[in-house]
Amino acid sequence: MSPTPRAETFPVNTPATAQVFTTVLSQGPLPRLEVARRAGLSPAAVTKAVRPLIEAGYLTEGADEDARPALGRPAHLVRVAGGRALFLGVKVTGDEAIGVLTDLCCRIRVARHLPLPDREPRAVLAVLADLVQQLLAEAQDTLGLTAPVLGLGIAVSGDVDRAEGVVRYSPFLEWRDIPLAELASMTCGLPVTVDNDVRALTVAEQWFGAGAGLSDFAVVTVGAGIGCGLVVHGRVVAGAHGVAGEIGHVTVDPAGPPCHCGNRGCVEAIAGEAAIVRQIREATGAEVTDAEAALAMAHRGVAGAREVYARAGAAIGRGIATVANLLGPERVIISGEGLTAYDLFAEQIRNAFVAAAFGSAARCDVLTRPLPFEEWARGAAATAIQSFVRADAP
Ligand SMILES: [Zn+2]
Repeated sequence: MSPTPRAETFPVNTPATAQVFTTVLSQGPLPRLEVARRAGLSPAAVTKAVRPLIEAGYLTEGADEDARPALGRPAHLVRVAGGRALFLGVKVTGDEAIGVLTDLCCRIRVARHLPLPDREPRAVLAVLADLVQQLLAEAQDTLGLTAPVLGLGIAVSGDVDRAEGVVRYSPFLEWRDIPLAELASMTCGLPVTVDNDVRALTVAEQWFGAGAGLSDFAVVTVGAGIGCGLVVHGRVVAGAHGVAGEIGHVTVDPAGPPCHCGNRGCVEAIAGEAAIVRQIREATGAEVTDAEAALAMAHRGVAGAREVYARAGAAIGRGIATVANLLGPERVIISGEGLTAYDLFAEQIRNAFVAAAFGSAARCDVLTRPLPFEEWARGAAATAIQSFVRADAP
């Protein structure tokens, strides 16, 4: 049988079940007692949650094969049955769609990139359908995977209302109020979860990355836009209206350059890719056309170009300090395609952060983590798994 879309629902829709599943998924395999401790539940509640999940084949429980017999009876560990189901995740950028097919453990099994010939929703949906078909075909033909495909997650930059499945405003795609979940579900025949791309990446970092085990952290992405995903008390913050953590539009210079959002001197208007290219053109008079050319010029040591990157770093550092001052995260993870310029503005990010962070907020651990777009797509698949296990329910 081929890995085909199939209607299947998670057996129990209680918050405890979702929590037990995500704890085992992100931190397992674990003994039941440890699941209880980490999920903050009673052992009885864990037993109640685990039983239907084992019966449905989503979890398994068995002896720890790695335990040495000399230590006595081997512990029984609960683990996610990765091969039980498949999920798809797609990250849409301004010029391509990056798709992955994952197992139930959210491990990437297949990855594909397709260019976007056009940013019109209809054209993007056609590429999405093509990408999904290619991923499913490769899963079947090359890997022989036959598990059911239970959901598709799509990650798009901008203001995305996950609950409604609507892209309210995506500047890079020039979309407004596109009911993407409904359209993609009709096109691909799968339950679809649509989320902001940085929030999706934040879910992947929370479950499997540098945010694992932390209750409060932020992911800041530097690139075409400046984005931020926030985890507070263990939950990814979506905000009452789907907008939260927009540090790209924190004002760092009220007299600064105009931003596409309508304000002036936003972090993104100084440190976004397009802003850097434009400022370098103005500073040097050279015909700089894209981020790659801008980067090459700064690496060649052209003073005007280097100054633009230094100012961008200072703006990003102040944006990060704002996050640290408001929420006091344990860690800020800086990622995004803009990290290729990190050597040009790392010092300025650090200095501006330390100068603007108040008191102990400056103790926040700021680290950089280059994450390829497949990892963003994996985050989109993680949001589809979240929706499936109802871990997104309030
Ligand atoms: Zn702005």
